[in-house]
Amino acid sequence: MSERRLNFRYLLTPDGLQRDRAVVVDEAGMIRSIEAAKGNWDGTLALPGMPNAHSHVFQRALSGLGEARHGEDSFWSWREAMYRLAARVDAEAMYAIARFAYGEMLAAGFTSVAEFHYLHHAPDGAPGPEMAEAVVEAARDAGIRLRLLPVLYQRGGFGRPAGPGQARFLHEQLEDFLGLLETLKPIRPGLAFHSLRAVAVQDVAPSLSAVRDILGGGIPVHIHIAEQAREVEDCLAASGRRPVELLLDSVALDAHWSLVHATHAGREELEAVRAAGARVVVCPLTEAYLGDGLFPGRDYLAPGGEIAIGSDANARIDAVEELRWLEYGQRLRDRARARFSDARGLGEALWRRVATGGAAALGLPVGRIEPGAAADFVVLEGEADVLIGLSPGRWLEALVVGGSRADIAAVVVGGEPRVEKGNWAGKSESAARYHACVKELVGKA
Ligand SMILES: [Zn+2]
Repeated sequence: MSERRLNFRYLLTPDGLQRDRAVVVDEAGMIRSIEAAKGNWDGTLALPGMPNAHSHVFQRALSGLGEARHGEDSFWSWREAMYRLAARVDAEAMYAIARFAYGEMLAAGFTSVAEFHYLHHAPDGAPGPEMAEAVVEAARDAGIRLRLLPVLYQRGGFGRPAGPGQARFLHEQLEDFLGLLETLKPIRPGLAFHSLRAVAVQDVAPSLSAVRDILGGGIPVHIHIAEQAREVEDCLAASGRRPVELLLDSVALDAHWSLVHATHAGREELEAVRAAGARVVVCPLTEAYLGDGLFPGRDYLAPGGEIAIGSDANARIDAVEELRWLEYGQRLRDRARARFSDARGLGEALWRRVATGGAAALGLPVGRIEPGAAADFVVLEGEADVLIGLSPGRWLEALVVGGSRADIAAVVVGGEPRVEKGNWAGKSESAARYHACVKELVGKA
């Protein structure tokens, strides 16, 4: 691709909304400069593409299953259903699911994704990079920017060995996991620890050090933490500490770290996370879907705690809805409005803040429309139902409170158009393949 100019009537930059700007995109799909526009509009309002900071893409195939009531249990029985699906997904199925879900993610406003990948081994237990490679290939074919986070998973729970449902996730020997990372090094993966349930806390720092020797010191590091109240109880029983507290005691958290969920973190724990320069990844739709609880953000967000969003279980993929439920969750919890707003409104402040946090979580130059960043955009046009009659300066307000992915006119990644009015290249073929795959996997469930 040669250098190109994309002209927008409005551009959401780190300095706010700018009028009549041309974005000059270089051969690598990065923004070279932002200049005065010269007609021939490519779109009306361009926003930075939203990074998706937490995804388990294969769980897309669980959407619509697991809604029946079985006694008092909820999360843990859902997890058993997820394990049953996970046991059957081979590399071909992984590709089919991921290709379709990543297409949806693009249409939903997510232009990059951190894939928290723990379905490592083949269904028969044979180790190898094939499952990870299926994810990488699907992301490449869809055209979404991928940060693969291979997950270290070593045991079944606090002091408990893994059960049969977890066999495909396991690397009991760190050397075996490091071997996988060596193979994947060319695609610049980051690292995830599944949780303190699945990795003993005393093993986190030495494992991180060994991984950094292979992948470099700048990699993003993610961990699930304090998602469920029972996880906090089990951690307290095993160690006398709460999960975030335990992590903070054992590892020097810094800006490379992202703590996923932190739903049951305490005020002092979150203050320490913020002070360390680490961030929280909240997954509002999944946390509601799984009945986790509401992120206790009141004392973390106001002083500027960094935050990103993730589509996590992918039952519904929509960046706009995630943002709405991020804001609304805090409203419901605090019984107050305007949680992410500044003096001018909600939409711009929320979109910019979460996109910036997401970029840091992925460790990629995305989430901001400025020279040196990737040319990844979500484009809005005035004919969307939710925007009718409003001036472009109000569009993001209306989108966040009333819109959805259906109101996105176009999506651009690296300067290349990827989505037009909800349609992405290869959609019908990918949908057919996904349909056949899900029918095979869960059709009789
Ligand atoms: Zn997760």
